[in-house]
Amino acid sequence: MRRVSIFGATGSIGQNTIDLIARDKDAYQVVALTGGKNIHRLAKDAIRLGAEVAVTADESLLTPLRDLLAGSGVEAAAGRAALIEAATRPADWVMSAIVGAAGLAPGLTALEQGGTLALANKESLVTAGRLIMNTAEQNGATILPVDSEHSAVFQALVGEAIDAVERVIITASGGAFRDWPLEKLVEATPEQAATHPNWDMGQRITIDSASMFNKALELIETREFFGIDPKKIETIVHPESLIHALVGFNDGAMMAHVGAPDMRHAIGYALHWPERRELPVARLDLATIGTLNFRPADTARYPALDIAANVMEIGGLAGAAFNAAKEQALDAFIAREIGFTQMAEIVGRVIDKLSSREGLQNVEMTLDIVEEVDRAARRMAVAEINNI
Ligand code: NDP
Repeated sequence: MRRVSIFGATGSIGQNTIDLIARDKDAYQVVALTGGKNIHRLAKDAIRLGAEVAVTADESLLTPLRDLLAGSGVEAAAGRAALIEAATRPADWVMSAIVGAAGLAPGLTALEQGGTLALANKESLVTAGRLIMNTAEQNGATILPVDSEHSAVFQALVGEAIDAVERVIITASGGAFRDWPLEKLVEATPEQAATHPNWDMGQRITIDSASMFNKALELIETREFFGIDPKKIETIVHPESLIHALVGFNDGAMMAHVGAPDMRHAIGYALHWPERRELPVARLDLATIGTLNFRPADTARYPALDIAANVMEIGGLAGAAFNAAKEQALDAFIAREIGFTQMAEIVGRVIDKLSSREGLQNVEMTLDIVEEVDRAARRMAVAEINNI
C-alpha cells in the first residue's frame, strides 16, 4: 500500500485528490490529512479514509476537531508545529495543496524526508524556488508539478532535452473579466472576480485568474521548476482552457497538452507517475468543439504579467516579496478595502521599492530569510493599502 498525505485536504485540490484516492481506497494508507477552518470536512474525510492523523492549522479548533474524531482512532492535532510534524511522518507521496505562503514550510519538510511531493501550492516555487529545488536534490526527493500548466509542460518534455526548448507557452483563460471594457474593471467586485468561466477552483485562485496574478505566479513557477530563461516563457489567452500549455522546440515543432479543464488530470498524472492510469475525467470530442481560440495577453488589462517579468528579472527573493504583496492586496480586495485594479498598483509599488534595496538577489535562501522578506513585503503592502 502506498502511504499518502494530503496537505490542504479540505480545499479544491485536496478534495479532488481525495476523490481519486477514495476510488481505489485499498491501494492507499492515508497518513495525514490537513485543513484550516473546515474541520467538519476534515474529520469526515479522515474517518472515511482511515487517516492516521488529522491536523487543523487553527489551534483554536483543536478541541472541536478532537470531539469530531472521538472514537474513530484518528489522531487530532492543530497548529503550525503539528503541520510540520505531520510532514515528517513517512509517506511515499505527499500532496502540497495548502493555499498561499503557509504551504511552504510543510512542503519543505516533506521534501526533507526524501519522498515524492506533488506540488499544487504554487507559492512554494514562487517564494522559494531555489530552496525548494535544492532541498529536493539534496534529499533525493522528487517534485511533480500539479498546476495544470506545469503538468502539461512536464508531460510535453518527457523524453526531450531541455536545451532543445525554444519557448514555453502558458495558456490563460483570461478570467472573469476578459471581455469587460477596460474602464469597467475599476468597479469589479470580489463576487464577480470569483466566477471563473471554465475552472471550478478556490475563491483566491479564481480572483487571481481574473487579475492574472495567477498567471504571473505560473510564469515564475515555470522559470523556477524547469529552469527556463524568462525570455522564452510566453502567455497567451485561450478562452476555452483546453490547451493547458505548449512547448516549442528548436526544430519548430510544438507539443500541446490538450484535455478537459479538470484538475484530476494533473493530480492523477502526479499520483500515478511515471505510469499513466485511467482517470474519471471527460474525454474531448474535438469535432463538437470545432474551434479553439487564441489572443494576445494584453498587459493593459493584465498588468500583473509585466510585474512578473520584472520579478523574474530581479530573481532571488523578489518572488517572495511579490507573492506576499499579492496576498495582502488580494485580502484587501476581498475585504473591499481596495478596488480590483488597485491590487496590481500596490504590488507593483512594493516590488519597485523593495528591488531598489540590496540583498534581494544574492542572499542565501533559507526558510527564515524567505519568511522575513514575506513579512517586510506584507508590511509595505499594508502601508500602501492604508495610503489609498
Ligand atoms: P482552497 O482555498 O480551495 O483550499 C486551500 C486549503 O488550504 C484548504 O484545505 C484550507 O483549509 C487550507 N488552508 C487555508 N489557509 C491555511 C493556513 N494558513 N495554513 C494551513 N492550511 C490552510 O485552495 P485550492 O485548493 O484552490 O488551491 C490550493 C493550492 O493549489 C494553491 O496554492 C493554488 O494556487 C494551487 N492550485 C489550485 C488549483 C485549483 O484548481 N484549485 C490549480 C492549480 C494550483 P480550510 O478550507 O479548511 O480553511
